[in-house]
Amino acid sequence: MNPYIRRMKHFFVDAKNILTGNMQITNRLKFTVIIFSVAVVHLFLTIIFGALKILPLFVFNTCSVLIYVSSFWLILREKFLPVYYITYLEIVLHSYVATICLGWQFGFAQYIIAIVPVGYYICYTMNIKRHKMLIATISAFVAVLSFLSCKMLSFFWRPLYILESQFWEIGLYIFNAICAFLFLVVFSLVFVFEIKISNNQLKHQNAILEQLASTDPLTGLYNRRSMDIFLSQALESSSSFTLVMCDIDDFKKINDTYGHDFGDVVLQGIAKVVTAQVKEHGYVCRWGGEEILILINNASLEAAYRISENIRRNVTSQVFECNSQRVHCSLTLGIAVHNKKDTVEETITRADYNLYRGKRSGKNTVVL
Ligand code: GH3
Ligand code: MG
Ligand code: MG
Repeated sequence: MNPYIRRMKHFFVDAKNILTGNMQITNRLKFTVIIFSVAVVHLFLTIIFGALKILPLFVFNTCSVLIYVSSFWLILREKFLPVYYITYLEIVLHSYVATICLGWQFGFAQYIIAIVPVGYYICYTMNIKRHKMLIATISAFVAVLSFLSCKMLSFFWRPLYILESQFWEIGLYIFNAICAFLFLVVFSLVFVFEIKISNNQLKHQNAILEQLASTDPLTGLYNRRSMDIFLSQALESSSSFTLVMCDIDDFKKINDTYGHDFGDVVLQGIAKVVTAQVKEHGYVCRWGGEEILILINNASLEAAYRISENIRRNVTSQVFECNSQRVHCSLTLGIAVHNKKDTVEETITRADYNLYRGKRSGKNTVVL
């Protein structure tokens, strides 16, 4: 596909994505909107100055329209910095020429004020690596000097053209004021919109990071770091809790016989079974290699035992499949109710000890 057609296509895709709230506003679109609106304003002024027979401004505005139309070529090639300089320079020069030809009271210098915040916004969001703020600040400084020098000029310089009717003076002043304010309002809105989009993206990325930092990538279970937080919360609350330590039986044998990948599939399958049984009763964490620690909130010993038995039974009845191989496996679970006088570490040690007793007594069992 022709590269220009492809870029144009990108532009329409960008516009569609922005309208549907799916994407950040690109520099290409931003500059296209600026250049298009500035070119339209200049085209309008060209017609007006042509009608008023003010030749220097007619020629200047005609050239401006041509320059802006040619700038689209730079925008398509993503050369935004030259477009920024051209626009800034053109607006400043136009104010001088308009002041020389017509005087200050027509309000052409208002555009200089409007380009200062727009300049900062554009520079900040442009894909330039260095001196963003420096470029914007120098531009702002040039703008202030130009604005004041235009005003000074109007004190000492008699305009080249004196218009008979006041209609044009008032009309052009209002037109220039509206365009300059419109420029400011539109860019303020775009700025707010962009902050909103980037806030949403940040929230989304934070949620992903939080998910990555709190879970185990293989099983999707909470990791030890998260479990430490849940355990501290459980300790702080006045209600009781129970810990269940689970360990897959003869897991080494599964790894050795069917391979490590199969072992991973078994681990994932068991994680699913445990999560499905615990549900909202508590939290499930991958405590170590193939050890799972369950925190059950507000549970009596009987309730914890019932949940643990369900887990054990469901794991035993499950068939794990990988590469058309089918395997059964089992789980041993040790339960310990947390006593207020104990530390969490002591309760974990008791759950671990009960698990050890279960292993000693033949595995595939729940030990209180
Ligand atoms: P027991 O019934 O006494 O628990 O015997 P076991 O073979 O399960 O012994 P143990 O609990 O000590 O074995 C742990 C094994 O788990 C060793 C290690 O290779 C394996 N393992 C740990 N993490 C992973 C993992 O992420 N994936 C796989 N496939 N294997 C793992
Ligand atoms: Mg183990
Ligand atoms: Mg084991």
